[in-house]
Amino acid sequence: MSRLNSVIRRLQAQRDCLNASADMISDLEGIVLEIGLGNGRTFDHLREIMPDREIYVFDRQINAHPKCIPDDAHLFLGDIFETLPKAVEQFKGRVALVHSDVGTGDEDLNAKIASFIGQTLPTALMKGAIVASDQKIDVPGTIAEPLPEGVPQDRYFFRRYQ
Ligand code: SAM
Repeated sequence: MSRLNSVIRRLQAQRDCLNASADMISDLEGIVLEIGLGNGRTFDHLREIMPDREIYVFDRQINAHPKCIPDDAHLFLGDIFETLPKAVEQFKGRVALVHSDVGTGDEDLNAKIASFIGQTLPTALMKGAIVASDQKIDVPGTIAEPLPEGVPQDRYFFRRYQ
């Protein structure tokens, strides 16, 4: 497959997963955490499909398109090893959806970040909350949920908090 087709497929799968996760929390009243602002693509999509949700965004730096930067009140700027525990304390039991897209090229670092996110998140989650992620994250108290049709296994991961 050409690299162009590969990128298109990856982004289509990501969009399908974001759309599906928004549907999966439609009955929950809760906030959204977007971990990994990057250039703001997925943040922009989440706010487009969930205009009434509060979305809080995490990144260690701002590199996003100027139109895709959250206001200061919705931005946790800094290393998630420091900012996520603070957010979890602030949002105890109020989070309906977490989208985590912090994968780097470094597999060891990815594993460390995934483990940290998984251990840190549960206190913030409400019953039925979804954790959608680009990396496999074991979140205590959650079970795996199927991906949308057509999204290859292990391209994305869905967990639902029980
Ligand atoms: N979701 C974004 C989008 O659609 O544009 C792409 C996110 S990009 C793949 C990953 C982001 O995670 C980068 O902007 C990087 O700065 C951030 N990141 C990686 N490790 C981090 C950490 N330990 N703390 C905070 N941000 C981190």
